[in-house]
This record gives sequence, C-alpha cells and structure tokens, in this order.
Amino acid sequence: ETDTALYQAKASGRNTVCFFEAAMGAQAQARFALESELRQAIENDELVLYLQPQCGIDGRLEGAEALVRWRHPQRGLVPPGLFIPVAEDSGLIVPLGDWVLTRCCELLARQEMSHLPLRIAVNVSPRQFRQADFVQRVRHTLASTGADPTRLLLEVTEGVMLDNLADTVGKMSELAALGIHFSIDDFGTGYSSLAYLKRLPIHELKIDKAFIQDAPSDPNDAALVDAILAVARHLNLRVVAEGVETEDQAAFLRSRGPLLYQGYLTGRPEPAEQQLDHWLASQGQIFPAGNTDGRLT
Ligand code: C2E
Ligand code: MG
Ligand code: MG
Ligand code: MG
Repeated sequence: ETDTALYQAKASGRNTVCFFEAAMGAQAQARFALESELRQAIENDELVLYLQPQCGIDGRLEGAEALVRWRHPQRGLVPPGLFIPVAEDSGLIVPLGDWVLTRCCELLARQEMSHLPLRIAVNVSPRQFRQADFVQRVRHTLASTGADPTRLLLEVTEGVMLDNLADTVGKMSELAALGIHFSIDDFGTGYSSLAYLKRLPIHELKIDKAFIQDAPSDPNDAALVDAILAVARHLNLRVVAEGVETEDQAAFLRSRGPLLYQGYLTGRPEPAEQQLDHWLASQGQIFPAGNTDGRLT
C-alpha cells in the first residue's frame, strides 16, 4: 500500500527508527512512524473537526456527527480510517478522543448554538470508553466548557457490551443521568445480543451503511433493515440510517417509517465552522420541506 511505503521510506531515513529496523517488519515500522507522527499531530493541533448533518424526512436538522480528520503537513487531509486504528492500538485514542470531545463541547457552548436545536454525536472508541476515569473526563469537559449535556450524544460500538457489562451499564447510566444520550454505532455488524441491548441505557441505533447500500434491491439487506427497525421500535429507540447516498435508498427507508438520515444525499461531512455557519444561515433547514422533485421524496 502506498501509505505503508511512504512511512517506510520516511522511517528508514531516521536514526531513531533504524535501530528498530532489524527487529521490526516493514509494516510494524510504518506503524511506529505513523504513531509518533500522530502523537505530534495531536500536540501540534493538526486534527480537524468535521460535522455531518442528520436530518428528518422534512429536511430539518436534528443532529450532527463529529468526524475527525488529520491535516497532515505533507499528505493533506488523512481520513480517520487510516489513523483511528493506530490510535486505538497505541492508546493515543485517549488524548485524541479528549481533543474531539473538548472541541465538540466548545461548539455546543457557543452562544449562537441556542438557535440550532441539535445534538452533537461523538464517536467513542472501546479503549477510550474502557478508561477507568472516562466518566470523570466527560464530566470535566462539560464543566470546563460549560456545554449542556443534553446536547451531547456518545456513539459506542457493540464491542463495548462484550467487555464488562456491569461496568458498561454503570458508566452509561452515570452519564445518561446527566442527560447525555447514547447510540450504538454500526449496529448489526458486531456481536451484540438483544438481551444486552435491553440492559443498556441507550437512545438510538445507527444502521450501518453496509445494510443501507443494497436494501432497495437485495431482499436480504431489506430484511435486516426491517429487523433492526423492529428491534428499535420495541425498545423505543430512535434510528439513524447511515450512508444514505441515493434517492432509491431514501425512498426505501421512507416506506419503512420515521428515522433520521445521515449520508451524502443529505450532506457530506464538512469542516465544523463552515457547517455551523451554513446551518445557522438556513436556520437548521437542510433542504426545502415539501419539495416534490427534490431529495427524500
Ligand atoms: P462511523 O462512526 O460509522 O462514521 C460514519 C462514516 O461514514 C464516516 O466516515 C462518514 O464520512 C461516512 N459516511 C457518511 N455518509 C456516507 C455516505 O453517504 N456514503 C459513504 N460511503 N460514507 C458515508 P469517516 O469520516 O471516514 O469515519 C470513519 C470512521 O472513523 C467512523 O465511522 C468512526 O468509526 C471513526 N471515527 C471518525 N471520527 C472519529 C472520532 O472522533 N473518534 C473515534 N473514536 N472514531 C472516529
Ligand atoms: Mg459514528
Ligand atoms: Mg457508523
Ligand atoms: Mg460505519
């Protein structure tokens, strides 16, 4: 892969890394270089916060997901898929996660946000959630920024349920008591049992884009989406459909009942400041309501 090759080339030019060269394979070396660059990136403020809208069928903005990118001085904008796994493995996800949460809380605390009644959804990785002081960190960030906890939603993956159910329920309950909402991200791709789901204080399920993609044409995917919607209905959970790209997908979902749309069809992730300016200007109307030849109709 080109990324690996690039980091390999960079790494072998460094004395410090040469020492490891004999012991490590090319891939491990590339990872090591990426890890130390990422550590510096967090300190040097090279991370950038993006927001993607989540809206109802009427085009009203209901929420936004925070998605981090890395503005690398040489390589440009690096997508999270290339560095979140490294951050997770190395433990850098903890300071990185703190950075994202702080930025989101700072946005929520801004005066003009009173005109935008949305929740910001923040991704929390399993390792970050597992930290013994996770609840304290969130409390501290809310207190130091002055953000309203009822404007915050935390996205966790099914993996956290497998860790230690009592600990997971405890942490989530403490945060939920503050008014924070929880969502299960990429729902249906993990190993969660429905019995676990019932015990967690969650408010939302996000249907993974893998199911949405072919739902209009593939009866198996359609059945899975229907099953997830049935679970959500029985547990009284809100549903966000992830990765809605086409009119066909939107029409399929529309025929299934109310849910929130998050995908390129209704809006791509954009730099947070730009998004907020845009949404404030449109008063949270992502696209015109009652638009008969427009999107989601
Ligand atoms: P995710 O949380 O499931 O986020 C949704 C991903 O789907 C995002 O990718 C988003 O850009 C993408 N997406 C949204 N709409 C569409 C669409 O219509 N079509 C397609 N093909 N994709 C769409 P992104 O931004 O590259 O992020 C990838 C993953 O990286 C995220 O998946 C999440 O697991 C992780 N991630 C991103 N930011 C953070 C963060 O701040 N902390 C943690 N722990 N993980 C993060
Ligand atoms: Mg997410
Ligand atoms: Mg997701
Ligand atoms: Mg996903």
